[in-house]
Amino acid sequence: MFIACDENQNRIFIEKAVDQKQYFCPICGEPVSIRAKNSLAIRRHFAHHPGTECIDDWTHDMSEWHLSWQEKFPEECREVVVKKDGVKHRADVLVNNTVIEFQHSPITSEEIAKRNAFYLSCGYQVVWVFDAEDKICNPRGGSIDPMKCREDDLCWKKAKEQFVQPFPRGVNVFLDYSTEISDPRFSAQKVRIML
Ligand SMILES: [Zn+2]
Repeated sequence: MFIACDENQNRIFIEKAVDQKQYFCPICGEPVSIRAKNSLAIRRHFAHHPGTECIDDWTHDMSEWHLSWQEKFPEECREVVVKKDGVKHRADVLVNNTVIEFQHSPITSEEIAKRNAFYLSCGYQVVWVFDAEDKICNPRGGSIDPMKCREDDLCWKKAKEQFVQPFPRGVNVFLDYSTEISDPRFSAQKVRIML
């Protein structure tokens, strides 16, 4: 996580965290420590102490792709704790009554359904943005050029990542990937697509 609480329940961003202070998980209240202090590969982040189990058992993606999306939103919209009936989860982004989940690593459709059900029951719309770079294919024609294929034609390359449950009302899904497209303005260039 990139946001933890200080002793006064203020949200503290990892960039502003200092070694001398104690920070706490916004979900379970357990102390967390600062990790990856000297790493170039992984961003500094907060983590629970080894052996501590957080009541939020949803895994949260910490990839660079994930972060680059999250950082497009104002700080107060990121890693927002959503509570209902004593259950708490951390939305990647909560903006304009919409929870946005950014998903880079594989996730099961059961897990997706669980998160949709929770956020919809809280009265939010849900948007999923999947990192689909090199992960989707078009079994019909091979092309993933949005000018040549229909969105319905696209499949995950790995069957286990396939969505087996339909997305309910109130949930929208976007695929983030790049491909060459058949538009002369972009000849032989890869273009970033949001489908
Ligand atoms: Zn926790």
